[in-house]
Parts: sequence; C-alpha cells; structure tokens
Amino acid sequence: MSLTTTPIEQIPTVVAGARAAVAQGRTTPLAWRVDTLRRLRALLVAHEDALLDALAADFAKPRPEAWLSELGFTLSDIDHTLAHVALWAAPEKVATPLTFKPGRSEIHHEPLGVVCVIAPWNYPVQLLLVPMVAAIAAGNAVVAKPSELAPATSDALAALITALGDPAVALVQGGVAETTALLTERFDHILYTGNGRVARVVMRAAADHLTPVTLELGGKSPAIVTASANIDVAARRIAWGKFLNCGQTCIAPDYVLVERSVHDQLVTAIGNQITEFYGPDPQASADYARIVNDVHFQRLEKLLHAGTVAVGGQTDPDSRYIAPTVVTGVTRADPVMQEEIFGPILPVIAVDSVDEALGVVNADDKPLALYVFTEDDAEAERVLAGATSGGACVNGTLMHISNPNLPFGGVGESGMGAYHGKFGFDTFTHHRSVMTRTTKLDPPMTYPPYTAKKERMIRRGLTLPDPRDLWARVRSARHRR
Ligand code: NAD
Repeated sequence: MSLTTTPIEQIPTVVAGARAAVAQGRTTPLAWRVDTLRRLRALLVAHEDALLDALAADFAKPRPEAWLSELGFTLSDIDHTLAHVALWAAPEKVATPLTFKPGRSEIHHEPLGVVCVIAPWNYPVQLLLVPMVAAIAAGNAVVAKPSELAPATSDALAALITALGDPAVALVQGGVAETTALLTERFDHILYTGNGRVARVVMRAAADHLTPVTLELGGKSPAIVTASANIDVAARRIAWGKFLNCGQTCIAPDYVLVERSVHDQLVTAIGNQITEFYGPDPQASADYARIVNDVHFQRLEKLLHAGTVAVGGQTDPDSRYIAPTVVTGVTRADPVMQEEIFGPILPVIAVDSVDEALGVVNADDKPLALYVFTEDDAEAERVLAGATSGGACVNGTLMHISNPNLPFGGVGESGMGAYHGKFGFDTFTHHRSVMTRTTKLDPPMTYPPYTAKKERMIRRGLTLPDPRDLWARVRSARHRR
C-alpha cells in the first residue's frame, strides 16, 4: 500500500493552527480536555473496524491481539485519564516554611503549549494516541506523526483525527522528509518513540528551540530464569511476551539467561508452549502476525545463522513469515546478541549463576524492561537491585506497562522521561510554583538592616521541622528498618 503524505509546504500551517488554538486559550479549560477525550474515545469505537483492518493489512496483526494491545489499551488509558484529569489539573496545596509565613504555596499545573508526538510502526495506534491523550489531558494542542512503515494504519488514524475536526489536535503523515520538516517547527515538548539513532536526530532538532524531549526507545530486554522458577509458567509468559506481534514489541524479552540446570527443561517448555499457542504450523495460525517489511525480514533472517535452532526456524519471504524460533548455544559475539532482535527469534543462553546473568545484563546498555522468573523473593530482589532497567516484571512479561498507575519509560539508551496515566499528564505539564503572601502582615525579619535577633529568627524559621516533614521522617525510618 502506498503512503499518504502531508505536503511539506502544508506542515507549517498545521502547526500554526495548533498554536493558534493555544494562543486563543481554547485548549486550557478542563471542559475542552474532557470533551476532546470523550470525542476521541467515541471515534476510536466508531473507527474500530477500520483500524483493525488497517493493522491486519500492514502486518497481519491478529484482530483480538490488535484490539487488546492497541484499541483496548488506548480506551482504558482514556477512561483512566477521564476519571482523574480534574484532580490532576487542580492546584495542589503544599506546606509553607515558617519563615515565609503568612503565605500559602501551591503547584499549578499548566499546559506547555503545542506538543509533537512521533510514533513508530509496531503498535501504531496506541503509541500515537496514548501520548496524545496525555498531551490533551494536560491542556495542550498536539501535532502527531504516525509511522510511514504502517501506511494503512497511518491513513486510518488520519481519518479518525480528521473526524475529530479540531485544528488543536492535528496529524501530519509521511516519512523522513515530512518528519524532518516537522522538526524544524517550534514545539513546547516532543515525545518520540522509536530507535536511538533517530532519537539523536530528534534531540538535535529540539535543541534548536530548547524544546524538552521524552524519548521512548528500545534495546535488548533480558529475561533471567533461575533454577527455582516455575518453568512451565515462565515458558508460557516468555513465549507470549516474545511472540506477540511476531516479536516486534519494544519490551519483548529479547533473550533469556537461564540457570544451566533448568536450561533444557525451559527450551522444551517454550517449544511446547509455541505449539499450544499457534498449533503445529504457526504459519497457518490466524493468531500470529508477520514481519512489517522486507528490510526487517532480511535483517532477521541473517540473525538466524547463529547457534542451534531448537524450535522453529522456518521462513517464507513471500509472506514475510518467520516461525516462532528458539535458538540455543549462541555466544555474546553472535550478531543476534549484538543488536535488538525485534522479531520472533529467542536466544536461550545457559548461565552458571544469577550473578553471571547480571554480569551479562550489565555489560550491555540499560534495558527498557528486565524480567526475572523465580520462586524466591530474595532472589528477585537481588536481580532488581543488581541491574537497572526502564521497568521490570517479576514472574511475568509485558504486563507492567498495562498498569496506568505505573510510569512507562526507559533509562539511558532505552530512553528518557516517562508517560502513561498521571506520568503522561506530568510530562506535558509545567509545574508552576505559586506562593501567595498577604500584605496585612509584613514581618521584618528577612529585610535589612539585619540584626542578631533577626538572624536567630530566620535560622529558627528555616530549620524548625514542618509537621509534614516530621511525619515523613517517621515513615522513612520505618522503611529503613
Ligand atoms: P520507525 O521506523 O517507524 O520510526 C519511528 C518514527 O521515526 C517514525 O515516525 C519515522 O517517520 C521517524 N523517523 C524515521 N527516520 C527519521 C529521521 N531520519 N528523522 C526524523 N524522523 C525519522 O520505527 P523504529 O525506529 O524502527 O521503531 C523500532 C524501535 O522503536 C525499536 O528499537 C523499539 O524497541 C523502539 N520502540 C520503543 C517503544 C517504547 O515505547 N519505548 C515502543 C515501540 C518501539
């Protein structure tokens, strides 16, 4: 399918339309935010078939999987946001130290202005709309750009946003040329999801306008399976997290490090699980997606030439099919361990200890997700303390990103900043500090000429613990114990 692109000369007009809405103060009122989110929700429901058809056309995304991970995910995020947005947007009262009294202190949550969202192809609906939801909830206008690598979905999203009919929520379609033009515009925040190479391009362009960025990136997310793990459950959850969307998931377990004593058992269990999920011939399964394009197909085929194929390994270039595949006996020098796999190839590597596994993880960049399978809580704690990651899940994969009460974001090479739920609202909000003082009283202690008495009073006022801090100290002490 050919890609629809926004004429480059129109891009400044689209951004200007969004900026005009901000300048008119149209996007700030809570009523606009709630109304826009409600209408977006209704349109998402109305356009469900068109979106699911487009996802199937782009890379055979199975319908139930697409609904769960794309539409359902976005609807639940909108519902969570609608339930909380009034509270999040309300001014927040905070304590005022004695020295600065009489006065009261508040944090006001202000929109930033015009937000730019640039999304990738692998979950093209939710990775575009969920950041947009957060930007709208925070009272911003938003200009979003879906990925050119999912062209049918890009068109379906354009139809949805056009139906919204508000220049404050706009879409630009296209690839590198259009995104390059878009990035010359001045935004008040850019959220980019994709790979680290383009993230650097985005950050450089943002620097020209001193625009803050949130970068949602990828990398190799490891799963560590210890000898104490429930192997059948671990195999099922790893296979699900890996082969969902044909492995094209930023937080898919990229590779497994398993204690040697349970290596063979785990490989067999993952193989059994693949058959249970997709039948004896996954190519015939309606529940298994395809690789997005020929470039990625060829890249992944090359990664198969390492170690021993224990499960799967079949490929079909015509339909861009790669079987759910488990490879064993790979080394860290093999290409499959040198880059993010982003496809249905799962290396399972035996290690002699959890410490060795942590050494492997820490030799690489900080991952977006870290998974540990163990029945031993202390072991889980040791893994969490021994290696950092954007997010983590104990005895599970992917699930941590579905909880809107948890932030979603990377660290180091896997990204900067976070969103989802309140964290998205905060990302697109300026937290403005406002102190209001009365003129009825004007204690002289902070004004010159300074005296020894004034100094004593200032010192006491600033160092006297606030009752709220006392309570925080009690709670901290409890945690330390
Ligand atoms: P992609 O090729 O669709 O690119 C993402 C976006 O960048 C697109 O909108 C594209 O138009 C734009 N782009 C591409 N080249 C550009 C350039 N030179 N200048 C400006 N813009 C450009 O997607 P991708 O990068 O292949 O996505 C896969 C990567 O994204 C993986 O590393 C994956 O782990 C990561 N990812 C991260 C998350 C997350 O939430 N952290 C989610 C999905 C994917």
